[in-house]
Amino acid sequence: MKKGQQKDQESRYGLELTNNSKTSWAFSMPRDKTCVMATSICKKVCYGNGIRYQSAGQKAKRERNFKTVELLLDRGGPKLLAQNLIALIDQVRPSDWLCASVMGEKTKTPFTVRIHDLGDFHEVAYVKAWLIAAKERPLCKLWFYTRSFLEPELFEALTELAALPNCQGWLSIDTENFEAGLLAYAQEPGVWKLALLQQERTQVEELLPDLIETAMTKELVSFPVHHGGRHVEPVVAPGLYTCPAVVGIYKLESNASKLRPCQACSFCLP
Ligand code: SF4
Repeated sequence: MKKGQQKDQESRYGLELTNNSKTSWAFSMPRDKTCVMATSICKKVCYGNGIRYQSAGQKAKRERNFKTVELLLDRGGPKLLAQNLIALIDQVRPSDWLCASVMGEKTKTPFTVRIHDLGDFHEVAYVKAWLIAAKERPLCKLWFYTRSFLEPELFEALTELAALPNCQGWLSIDTENFEAGLLAYAQEPGVWKLALLQQERTQVEELLPDLIETAMTKELVSFPVHHGGRHVEPVVAPGLYTCPAVVGIYKLESNASKLRPCQACSFCLP
């Protein structure tokens, strides 16, 4: 076997987190295989189209994560995959977590993992694996955004995950799926929150009244469409919280031992 082929063989499996300068530690999956209910708008403006996410290394990592997820689910179901997810979570525990927890204090940097900085939940067994892992690691704060709420079984499993005290789920909505999103939100009061992909004001104007009337306080975040440091004009409306990282209030931070924008802001965290 040639050297290159051997290296390729060796790195075919294994789960790995991404050290994301906005969210801190995050798990990524390939969009084409897991964003099973993506809308045409989110595909078009997805930040994953950006150069930062398109390097060969980043793509290979997402493919490896997916292949590993599929293999472990196939060989041992959610329990086996959960073992590997728990090991991943443990890798990013802040070094002072044990002392902080026995003294009842906060760690220097928060213990957080965002499930999917790219990708989504593509099947029930995969959701169940995260559910086991989240229950096993109650000190880790997990959060996720999803469009996988249109299929009842998947939504039911996701609701169980989002209902955990250390996990927050956000229903990602836009002009194409907002009616289904509002129904899902209303179906499970107190569990889900709403994340709006905000296009230009003229494009979202129609859905705003329903959205504002339905969403409870602190349960609606807006992400103005952005690319390359530019963003569309944020819509200002009662109860609508615009992500401060998108509009530049929080700067990206490459150092994992410092607070990242999402950890400093914490609006989306449980
Ligand atoms: S609103 Fe805050 S926590 Fe949510 S994505 Fe933006 S910076 Fe992160």
